[in-house]
Order: sequence, then C-alpha cells, then structure tokens
Amino acid sequence: MDPIAADKAHSWHPFTPMADWCAPEHEPLALVSGEGALLRDSAGREYLDGNSSIWTNLHGHRHPAIDAAIRAQLDRVAHTSFLGFTHPPAAELARQLVALWPADTLSRVFFSDDGSTAVEVALKMALQCWRQREQPQRQVFVSFRDAYHGDTLGAASLGGIDLFKGAFHHGLNVTCLPDFAALGQLDARTVAAVIIEPLIQGAAGMRLWPRGLLRELRGWCDEHGVLLILDEVMTGFGRTGTMFACEQEGVVPDFIALAKGLTGGYLPLAATLTTERVFETFLGGPERALYYGHSYTANQLGCAAALASLAIFREENVLVALQPKIAHLTDLLAAMRRDPRVYEVRQCGFIAGMELRHPDGTPFPAADRTGARVCLAARRHGLLTRPVRDTLVLLPPYCITEAQLGQCVAALELAIVEICGAA
Ligand code: PLP
Repeated sequence: MDPIAADKAHSWHPFTPMADWCAPEHEPLALVSGEGALLRDSAGREYLDGNSSIWTNLHGHRHPAIDAAIRAQLDRVAHTSFLGFTHPPAAELARQLVALWPADTLSRVFFSDDGSTAVEVALKMALQCWRQREQPQRQVFVSFRDAYHGDTLGAASLGGIDLFKGAFHHGLNVTCLPDFAALGQLDARTVAAVIIEPLIQGAAGMRLWPRGLLRELRGWCDEHGVLLILDEVMTGFGRTGTMFACEQEGVVPDFIALAKGLTGGYLPLAATLTTERVFETFLGGPERALYYGHSYTANQLGCAAALASLAIFREENVLVALQPKIAHLTDLLAAMRRDPRVYEVRQCGFIAGMELRHPDGTPFPAADRTGARVCLAARRHGLLTRPVRDTLVLLPPYCITEAQLGQCVAALELAIVEICGAA
C-alpha cells in the first residue's frame, strides 16, 4: 500500500488536527533518508533539517560513529531489562554523565525514555524524598508562565501553556507563577520543588529569561530549602553553546532532566540526574525504594548511541567548533531583522526564534496561522522547520555548514515575503 494512503488510513499524529491531516488536499511529507544536516523525502527532494528533527539531532544524521556504535551494540544485544540487572553501556553512560558535573554534585542517574518521563522521575523523586525526610507538607511544585515540561499527566500539569495543558491540570499540586517576583508570595515551607527551563523557554516561543535570574532562583531555593529541578530537555548537550545551559550562570540543580539530544537524536532515551543527598533518602528498608520505571529503561542501543555522542563531543571538539557558527547565525539573524514583519529575534547559542507580527507590532490573528504557512512555504526553498505559533524556529544540527545556515535563513526570508507580501 502507498505509505501516504496507509498513514492517512491508520496513523494518528502528535499535536495534529487530524481532519486537516487526512484531507485529500493535504500532502504529507514522507522522510526516507538523511545525511548530516540534510533530509530526503520519498520523491528524492532534499531539505535542511532546520529544527534538528524536533530539537533532537546534534551531530547530523547518519553520523558514522553513532551508526557504528549502534551496529556494534546490535551484534551483542539490543535490549535487556534494567530491573534486576545492569549492563556495561548504561553503567558507563551513568559514569560519563556524572563526570560532566562538578565533583560531589549530581552523582546519580535514573534512566527513562523521553523528556516527559525524565521530568516525571524528578517529580516523583522530589515528592517521595520529602515524605522520607518527614516533611510531607512539601507538596507544591512551582512552575512558570508559559512553561512546557512534556505531555504525560504529571509533566503536563506543570505547564503554563493552556493549549498543551488542556484539562490535565489536576494531577499535581502546582502553582504556576507569572514571574519571579511572585516567588515572594509563596509559603516556601509547602514547596517541594521549583521547575524551570533554564535561559530559554522553548515551547513558549524561544523566550529568553533575563540573565542572572537562574542564579537568583538557585539562591531562593537554597534559602528556603526547596529543591530545584532544571528541565534541560531542549537546552542540554550544547544547544545553548555550553554543554548545559545552567553552566552559564554557575548553577547546579538538585535534579536535571535530559532527553532529546542525549543519544545524538537517534533513539528515545532520557536521564534524570540527582544528588547523593536526595539519593540517600531512598536508602533503608524496601519501603523507601523508588518504585518507578519503564520496560525500556536504559535500553542498550540507546546507551550505546549516547556514549558515541559524548565521544563525538570530545573527539570533534564540538563545543569549540560551534562558537563561530553561533556568531555566524547572529550575523544572519541581524539581516533578518530588517524585514518589518520580523518583530523580535531571540537567540540563545544555537537556538533562534524569530517572531512575526504586523509591521505596527500587532500580532497576526491566530486563525491566519502565519507562522505555519511561512514554514510550509520555506519547504519549497529546501528548509524543514516548525514554528511555535508565529515564532519561526531555527535550531539546526551542529554539523551544519555556514553556507547551509545561510540557505536556512534565505529560505525563511523568501517564505515571509511569499506569505506576508513584499516588505
Ligand atoms: N521539556 C522541554 C523543555 C521540552 O522542550 C520538551 C519537548 O519539547 C519536553 C520536556 C518533553 O520532551 P518529550 O517530547 O521527549 O517527552
């Protein structure tokens, strides 16, 4: 059967109004292969992967070292249970993840499957930790306006975006604050943990936090004995120009949620790191254990891919090589600002969001779906990306060349003119 026909007959896509998807006039793109920053569709057309396949891919598609590591692992075994057993790739990956942090800070790694489950793990650990420290009144999770931490029930109930949170806000005791100043109004003795996307909120439309705020938040948490959860599902593994975003403010959290780029964007694997202090509260009788886990926890293929990705960081000096590309992206974005429809450009390392509005600064009506239409037009110029409402997103794999970066920006500029008219 033709794959498009099969898809329309039987698949259900995430975050997708399916009546539009299945409409006869909609032609879904079937992606069949890739190499580096390029993806190819079933008709043989090539596109630049402008959002790293939804913020996951780091070093490019079909990187020889990750491909080889997965193949080598496949020759040993694909998956074994982490419940009651261990295996070398997971043990080594845990060791290497901990080694990315200052000594005696984040020292324990709990594996799961994706960003949402990495956050769920932190939430459950925080609640149980307070119960076992005999402070069960600490039940409240504090999140921030426009936050997005995933779609499982617990993670979704933290969210500050109504569209994604929907009806799913009853699971946890959550206080979603409008800003940092509101922290002062909380009864901190009831707070289990604060959760935040450091430096930049992705699904909010690549919104930047003011510099220094994260350090201030760490200070507030320390002062009130509150646990700090950093969600680096998007920002982790170099995306902001440093291995982790929080390094830029000299902050180490009590929990960090990592996923998307952990395997270089190859396989679903996530990790929640925490401190020995938290871990120790789970020691003692069996009733103190964390009764939580998933069938594919610490999947061997995923761990092998993650180890290969970390080796690429070391061997290809990825973070050093990324800096001139970040500077080049800044220059290209400066040119984009000349279009009066580009209301604001927000960049954090190798993440960029360009918000479109009318030239007088008023937003386009939501029903116009301007951002989505611009991205669809950009496809015809060889770029794949998804907007967040009317914010266009560029978040390419680190292997992209400066020339390809220029092509991404040119594709967006042409697409804006096609959809919004000449400036
Ligand atoms: N946290 C952040 C900051 C994210 O950007 C996302 C996904 O975009 C998630 C959590 C959820 O990750 P996943 O889609 O892998 O469950």
